[in-house]
Amino acid sequence: MPIAPSTHYRLGPSSSSRWLACPWSLRAPSSPRNTAAAEGDVAHAMGASILTGENTLDDAGSLRAGLAMYVSHVQANGVEPIVERVWESMEITAAATSRLPPKEGTLEGFGGTLDCLLISGQTAVVYDLKWGEIPVKAPNNTQLLSYASLIHEHFAVSEFHGVIVQPNAKGGPNISVAQYTESEVIQHRERVKVAAASDEKRVGRHCLFCPLRYNKQCAEGVEFARQKGWRYKV
Ligand code: SF4
Repeated sequence: MPIAPSTHYRLGPSSSSRWLACPWSLRAPSSPRNTAAAEGDVAHAMGASILTGENTLDDAGSLRAGLAMYVSHVQANGVEPIVERVWESMEITAAATSRLPPKEGTLEGFGGTLDCLLISGQTAVVYDLKWGEIPVKAPNNTQLLSYASLIHEHFAVSEFHGVIVQPNAKGGPNISVAQYTESEVIQHRERVKVAAASDEKRVGRHCLFCPLRYNKQCAEGVEFARQKGWRYKV
């Protein structure tokens, strides 16, 4: 089986909905990887190796149906995919977050590993393969907008599409697509810059996914959860 990449940044796209809402949570440790996440890692790695031709769907075993959905959607574009590549912002540098305590296994700055990128002329398509069950939509998705912001620094593109492929979504397999304007992408990067330089703490629904809350290291988050009656850990 292929091995999943493991490069993580402080300002990582996957947790951006939380740290954009509450910059203080950039101090949070990484969440432990559970069994479902580990299966997702394997699916991502296999999906990448199929797209690059190292493996085929016949090698995917029980992951075959979900990965077929992902691979066929990518390949239908007829563009050579750039797969599982790490993208880092030169503009939002490590200096922006170097005031924070070190975080094990994490690079400072704004960056992340993009499952799949297609570049064609002025257009970029960013793909996110989601292996979990909670349905996720592409419109206004801060993770996809974060990837688009990173890509905008590296390519002369002005049109952005985000695609979430979610084979195991509750309610059935789903593909969600959105288009982002260049000004939306630029605005998003400005939000990232503001968050990188901020120590503001704000409670809200995003506390649900914050390790500082479920590790009981944020009194405000714990109290917010108590008021909301959240009884589960994550
Ligand atoms: S628990 Fe909520 S308020 Fe506290 S750091 Fe996390 S996201 Fe911010």
